[in-house]
Amino acid sequence: MSLLAPFRCLVALAALGSVAAGGPQLSGCSRRGTDAPPTAAPDRGTPAAPPSVADAVAPAPDLPGVSSAEAVAGDAPGTPPAAPGSPPGSAADPAGAPAAAPEIAFPEPGTGRFGRSSVPEAASPDQIVLNELHLMWLALDVLETKGWNGAWGDPLPLSAGDIDPAELRRMIADEERKDRELTIPAEREELFVGEAARAEVQAEILAARVEYVAFLRERGVRAEYLDELDRVLPGDPQRMIYLADNDPQARPTATEPLVVVEATQEQDYSRLTLKVHGVDLWNGSDMCREARLLGPAPADPAALRAWHRDCRDFGLRQTVYHELTHALQRAYVNLHLAPEDRDARASWSDAGKALYTLEQACFWRWGGHDAIAAVANHAMADERQADGVSFQVLVRACGLSEAQARATWSRWFDRLSDARDLLLRIRDRFDRQWPDYPADDFGGALFEAFEGDGGARRMALKLGALPAYVGYLQPLRPEESEPFWQALREP
Ligand SMILES: [Zn+2]
Repeated sequence: MSLLAPFRCLVALAALGSVAAGGPQLSGCSRRGTDAPPTAAPDRGTPAAPPSVADAVAPAPDLPGVSSAEAVAGDAPGTPPAAPGSPPGSAADPAGAPAAAPEIAFPEPGTGRFGRSSVPEAASPDQIVLNELHLMWLALDVLETKGWNGAWGDPLPLSAGDIDPAELRRMIADEERKDRELTIPAEREELFVGEAARAEVQAEILAARVEYVAFLRERGVRAEYLDELDRVLPGDPQRMIYLADNDPQARPTATEPLVVVEATQEQDYSRLTLKVHGVDLWNGSDMCREARLLGPAPADPAALRAWHRDCRDFGLRQTVYHELTHALQRAYVNLHLAPEDRDARASWSDAGKALYTLEQACFWRWGGHDAIAAVANHAMADERQADGVSFQVLVRACGLSEAQARATWSRWFDRLSDARDLLLRIRDRFDRQWPDYPADDFGGALFEAFEGDGGARRMALKLGALPAYVGYLQPLRPEESEPFWQALREP
């Protein structure tokens, strides 16, 4: 894992693994860096890959909206609807079962701890540049010039020296800057690090889970899925854990299979554990501050501390809601499997139904290799849904006003719209010029080709999580989410 450590997101879903020999596996994740997403993965051939399957890695950035080319026509992410649609009536659902009434009342928009009727004018956020995607594009330019035949499995006919040296230096320096910015500064460490912070944040994580479940109830999610969610990732501090660390090199925040036997590291893929790292919360809180979602920074020291704490707990909610959505995806799969198959790593592929299939409009061909495409598209869909659902819960559970909802979408997702456009151009370029090459394998091949250049290699490694990027860069927009919720209202 050490090579992967710098990346943000991890993988979590056990479920995805092993379809094809050596197939990729990804899932889970968090977004450590505003800019820096991702990470990772390994697999098929990347030496750097983590040894264990369970650790596949996936990254996580933040990303923008917009759907795939086919899905939504050309749309720019634009503004999200102010609030998630109204729930389909809490009463009985024909198919059965919304459970008890929510145990908490959500604040009216613009009220409560996080609600504000307006947001101070903040400069529009700069677009986030994902250096690894830019590097990928430059490498494809070189390969095109060299007449590369796109043969999958052969070494790429290029080296880091073929990339414009000034561009490469600039990108590597930018990656180093992102790493530095992830570290929690000393003057704010007390809110994130140490026992007092740990206890406080731990309580917030569990509170966020209660909010998430109340939101699911409000959307009419069947009781059986909620019950299974309690099994997959219960609101237990031993299962949803805050580590109170300040280490940009820590493994990314993620949901991972539950270790059932410490000695042998035996894992149960049908149940998850969430481990949240301080730098990931710092990153989320930073987006909240920059967007001035909770107003400008107050001058009074006590008020300033409270403002930082609220920003921490707002960013925390985005992370926790995202990760809980991975647990919900897993719960859904569990209930559509024979009980004896539930803890099998690849069991999702045997499930009678799975939520990822709802995102077919965003699926890629991945070189036309079915087994690879199945895994990659699953990883994509998991992240697309997790980010999109996290936004809906934030708006509702935190009582965001329309202005805050717009600012949140803009800061977390729209900033990656340029990166999304580049990513889709990369997809089209593979389909047109090298149609048999699975683009998710390109990062591993680049990693090999860049031997001797650590900075370039590190970016190449991130491209192993390309399928997850496709999801992060195209989060499920509220107006596209009805099929997702409808599926959860049906057996
Ligand atoms: Zn994720």
